[in-house]
Amino acid sequence: MLPFLRSDLAQLVAYTPHPGQGDGSPAAHHASEPSNPSEHSIDRLDTNENPYDLPEELKQKLAWMAQHRIESNRYPDGGYGALKQAIAQYVMESAALPPTTLTMNHISVGNGSDELIRSLLIATCLGGEGSILVAEPTFSMYGILANTLAIPVISVGRSESNFEIDLTAAQEAIAHSSIRVVFVVHPNSPTANALTAAELDWLRCLPSHILVVVDEAYYEFSQQTVVKELHHHPNWVILRTFSKAFRLAAHRVGYAIAHPELVTALEKVRLPYNLPASTQAAALLALEHRSVLLGVIDSLLQERATLLQALRTLPGLHIWDTQANFIFMRLVGDDGTRLNTIFETLRQQGTLIRKTCGGFRITVGTPDENQRTIARLTAILRE
Ligand SMILES: *Cc1c(COP(=O)(O)O)cnc(C)c1O
Repeated sequence: MLPFLRSDLAQLVAYTPHPGQGDGSPAAHHASEPSNPSEHSIDRLDTNENPYDLPEELKQKLAWMAQHRIESNRYPDGGYGALKQAIAQYVMESAALPPTTLTMNHISVGNGSDELIRSLLIATCLGGEGSILVAEPTFSMYGILANTLAIPVISVGRSESNFEIDLTAAQEAIAHSSIRVVFVVHPNSPTANALTAAELDWLRCLPSHILVVVDEAYYEFSQQTVVKELHHHPNWVILRTFSKAFRLAAHRVGYAIAHPELVTALEKVRLPYNLPASTQAAALLALEHRSVLLGVIDSLLQERATLLQALRTLPGLHIWDTQANFIFMRLVGDDGTRLNTIFETLRQQGTLIRKTCGGFRITVGTPDENQRTIARLTAILRE
């Protein structure tokens, strides 16, 4: 190890976006080279994006803006006023909030919500000021980013039957360690369950010196949000992203909705110009055309129902309900061997899914992709 590196980095590994695909494998290259025609032979159902690219006319608009509006030699707008305003508008409108409840001062934007997670950690726990609490299984990035900042991660479990957070353990952890931030996902990834009434009550009762992060990455699919309660809780922050329902994963943009003082803190710790000009343009365009972009959600939810129904007829699977655009399942009575075999077989056939937390997380794709998922899994499981 290089002698100048922080000693704890030796224990960390870099994030792999498509584990199982292998670094530098042909599949991995296909995923990052849209011009490669064989890309279309791989069903990428492992990262929960919307399966549909932007409509052609919006792509043309973006290309036009890149050519005629964006000055490549100039730094982009670093204040994001227009984008924050448009986001505040969308958030209020979609939650039917009175149009004065949120202003741009309640919004912070990041290079993906991953960046906002890191900014939240920097603004709260860095330098030995506290730990974070997560309930496993959950989105891995909270722990990964905390580790890179040497912030301790306290984990509690979830119910094996419905993945509800072990609130007794969580309460115990709060009482006995210096927890400053609680991360929850609504609905959770990879298990796809939304927060229950009991979990929400617990969050409402947390003391004001603990920051509650409610990650609503899948809000447009679940239609469940805590945004109406935000003004009662200055210690809450909601995270959202344009990477899933809004079809902009390639552009990297996420946002936080929070009390203006927390937004100010996030602004202090972020990098200047964290959103490229093209990303800001894409996010504004997506918001402007949100009824078109989000118009496919109903059919994706319909596809989800079809997929669920088909998978539930297969032997040996335990499949959970879902509030998101993905499905979590485990194999009954497997020690992990069969899980690996199935994962590998699917991968060789061109279906990439996520193997995680002792199960599979499968993204709802296009009708064709879902049909292939069903056909391939059926063949494997019935053999
Ligand atoms: C996909 C996802 C994100 C978002 O990522 P970006 O950095 O905005 O692409 C955040 N949280 C959860 C739970 C997710 O699944």
